Amino acid sequence: MSQKILDIENLTVSFDGFKALNHLNFSLNTGELRVIIGPNGAGKTTFLDIITGKTKPTEGRVLFKGRNLRSHSEHEIAQMGVGRKFQTPRVYLNLTPRENLELACNRKKDVFSSLFKPVPSAERRTVSGLLQTIGLTHKSDLSANLLSHGEKQWLEIGMLVAQAPDLLLVDEPVAGLTDEETEKTGELLLSLAESHSVIVIEHDMEFVRQIAQGTVTVLHQGSVLCEGAFDQVQKDPRVIEVYLGQEAGHEEEMILS
Ligand code: ADP
Ligand code: MG
Repeated sequence: MSQKILDIENLTVSFDGFKALNHLNFSLNTGELRVIIGPNGAGKTTFLDIITGKTKPTEGRVLFKGRNLRSHSEHEIAQMGVGRKFQTPRVYLNLTPRENLELACNRKKDVFSSLFKPVPSAERRTVSGLLQTIGLTHKSDLSANLLSHGEKQWLEIGMLVAQAPDLLLVDEPVAGLTDEETEKTGELLLSLAESHSVIVIEHDMEFVRQIAQGTVTVLHQGSVLCEGAFDQVQKDPRVIEVYLGQEAGHEEEMILS
C-alpha cells in the first residue's frame, strides 16, 4: 500500500456545475513515470491543479504519500514534496543558470539574502550536479536570456529538482521546442525518473512514444478513458475516436498516426 505515492479516489471538480473532472480514479506507484494524454479540455491541467492544491476537489480525495491533501495549502503541498513545472519557463532572465539554481536551492530564504551570501560548498556541488543533469554546464555563467527556449525549460526543470520533490508534475514540456530539444527533454525526464516519481502531460505523440516506458493514462471528459502501454493505447478504438472527433471538430493536426 505504501508503495503508492499518489492515490486519487472518485475525484470530481465542478466549475459552476460543469464537471472538469468526473469521478476520476488514479494511482501512481513510487518511482513510476506516467504519461497522461487526452484531447483539449479533457481535464489534464485541472488534474495537476488538484494535486498541487491550486484547486480543491468538489468530491473525492487525493492521498499523497498516504496523506489526504484536502486541508493543505498549495505551499504546504509543495513542502510535502510535490513540484510542478508550468508550460512557460519561469526563470530569472537577468541571472545566469548557476545563479538561478542557487536561488532555487535557497528558495526558503528571501531573494536578496541568498543573492549576496556566499554559497556553501556542499550546495555548490549540488548546483554543479544539477547543471550537469540539465546539460547546461557549458552555459552556466551566461545570462539566462541568451538561452534557447529548450534550455530555459531544462533550467526550470533543474530549479524544480533543486527543491528535492518526491513527485514531479510536468505540463506539456516540449511545446515549441525543436526536434533535437524535444529528444533531449525526453532523455532528461527519463533520467529524473530514475530518482523521482513523475507525471508528464503531453500532446506530442512522438514524444510520448519516446518517454512512455510503462503505463499511459488517457483522460477524456474528466475521467480515465483507458490505461495501458503506449502501443495498446494508441490502437484503442475509443482513443482513436476521441482524437479523431477532436480533429473533425477543431481542424487540429491529427496527432495519432
Ligand atoms: P486540458 O488541460 O485537458 O486541456 P483543462 O483541465 O484545462 O483541460 O480544462 C478542462 C475543462 O474545464 C475545460 O472545458 C475548461 O474550459 C474547464 N475549466 C478549466 N478551468 C476552469 C475554471 N477555472 N472555470 C471554469 N471552467 C474551467
Ligand atoms: Mg492543459
